[in-house]
Amino acid sequence: MASAEEPEVEKVPLPQREPECRVGIVLREDNKSNIQIELPPGRFRLTANGTESFLEGKSVRTLGISSDGNEVICRDMPECSFAEASAHYKGSALKSGGMVSVEPVDAQEVLAPKSGILMRGVVAGRGFHWQKEVDLHYPRRLEFFARDGRLIAVNVLPLEAYLACLVTSEMSGACPSEFIKAQATAARTWMMVFLKNKHVGEPFSICNDDCCQRYQGTTFLSDSVAGSVERSRGMFLVTHEGYLCPAYYSKSCGGIMERAQNIFGQGAVGISEKTDAPSGSVTEYFNPVTEENIRKWVTGEFLSASDSFCSPKVCPEETLAKYLGAVDVAGHYYRWQVEYSRESLEHLLRTKGALADLGEFVDFRSIKRGNSGRIHDLEVIYKDTAGGTKSHIIHSQYEIRRVLHEKFLFSSAFIWERKRDTRGRLEGISLTGAGWGHGVGLCQIGALGMALQGYPYEEILKHYYDGCQLLRAYE
Ligand SMILES: [Zn+2]
Ligand SMILES: [Zn+2]
Repeated sequence: MASAEEPEVEKVPLPQREPECRVGIVLREDNKSNIQIELPPGRFRLTANGTESFLEGKSVRTLGISSDGNEVICRDMPECSFAEASAHYKGSALKSGGMVSVEPVDAQEVLAPKSGILMRGVVAGRGFHWQKEVDLHYPRRLEFFARDGRLIAVNVLPLEAYLACLVTSEMSGACPSEFIKAQATAARTWMMVFLKNKHVGEPFSICNDDCCQRYQGTTFLSDSVAGSVERSRGMFLVTHEGYLCPAYYSKSCGGIMERAQNIFGQGAVGISEKTDAPSGSVTEYFNPVTEENIRKWVTGEFLSASDSFCSPKVCPEETLAKYLGAVDVAGHYYRWQVEYSRESLEHLLRTKGALADLGEFVDFRSIKRGNSGRIHDLEVIYKDTAGGTKSHIIHSQYEIRRVLHEKFLFSSAFIWERKRDTRGRLEGISLTGAGWGHGVGLCQIGALGMALQGYPYEEILKHYYDGCQLLRAYE
C-alpha cells in the first residue's frame, strides 16, 4: 500500500469522530455513459435534487444509471441482459438530476462478505495492459455524477467500513487476530496522514486503484478478518507532539528497519531505525549495516539462528502465502537471490535505466547505504558504444529497484557477484539481498511473526512505532 513517492508529511490531529471516505469507483477516464447496478432485497433510499423516494423489494432489483450531458438518469432495468438493455434503455426514469444517490435504509454496523449494492463492469488495473472489467459489491451509499456525458460513481462509507474492506482483501482469514489489529491500526493512521485530496476537483477524495489504494468493496471480505479490524476500531498511533504518526509500513525490513530520512527525504516522528528483533538480539551488532559488514549481514552464519521477527525462524516462509495471499510461491524475502546474464542486465540498464549509450556493463559501486543495508545511490560503471569508460548514478532505492528488475526488485539492500567465463569475460551477475519494500515502520512479515509468537497488538505497534502512543479517537 505504501509507495515510495509520498507527499509531504502534514501534521494531522487525531480525528474527533469517525471520518467518512469518498472513494471514486467509476472515474471520468473510464468513459462510461451507462452503468448497471443491482440492489439486493431490502429497502433503499434514492435521492436526486433534494428529493428522496424509497425502493423496496423482496428480490434483486436492477437499475440502469446513464448520463445525459451533466445530468444523471436512473431507470428500472428490464429483465434482460445488460447488452440488450443498454441497446433499448426503455425503462422510465425513476430519478434524474445533477447527482443521484442510492443507499440501503438499514445498513448493518459490521459488514458481511458480498453485502451491499452490486456494480457491473467496474474497471480494474486502470492504465495497465491487463485492464479489465469486474463485478463488485459496495457497502453503504453510491453517488453518481455526470460530466460531459461521462459518469462518475462514488462509494461513500465510514472509515472503519472502508478499512475492513481494504485489509481483508489483502489478508486471509488464517491470519492471527493480533496481526490484523496491528496492520489495521497502522493503515488507518497512514491513510489519515497521506490519503487526502489526491483527486482535487473531483467529487471523491481517493480512487479505487493503485494510484491511491486498491478497493473492491465487500467482494473479498472475510468475516473473521472484518471482526479483527472491528476490534481495533478508532485506534490511532499518535506521536509525542500530539499528531498522527506517518505510519509507514512495508512487506519485510530484512531484519533492520530503515531510517525514514533515507527513503522519504525527511524524518518520521515516532518511528526509529532499530533491529526487528527482541532486545539483545545478535542482529543489533549489524545496525548500521555498512560496506564492511554487509556480506555477513546478507549471507552470514548467524542467519541460521536469526531471531528477527521477519526471519524464517520466527515466520516460516512456506506459510506466508497462506497468510498474506499476494506473495510469490517461493516466498523468500528475508534473504533472496536474483541472477542475470550479462545480456539481460545490460538490456535492463539500457531500457529501464535510460543508458542508451551502454555498450558493456563493467561493475556497480554502492555510494550510499542506509542503516538497513539499502543502497540509496548506486553507481553503474560501463563502457559506452565507442569503448570509453562511463559512470552513471541511480538515485533512490525506488529507482534502483525499478531499474534492476523486469518488474520491481524486492529491495535495494543487496550485494553482487560478477561471474566470469574461462577467458575472464563477464558472463552474468547475481544479487543477494535482504527484505522487501522500503523497510520503514511496521514490517508486515515481522508483525505477523510477532503475532505468531503471541505478542498482543499493542506490543507489536509499540515495537515498530516506538515513539507513539495508541489512542482511541472514537467508539
Ligand atoms: Zn487515486
Ligand atoms: Zn522485519
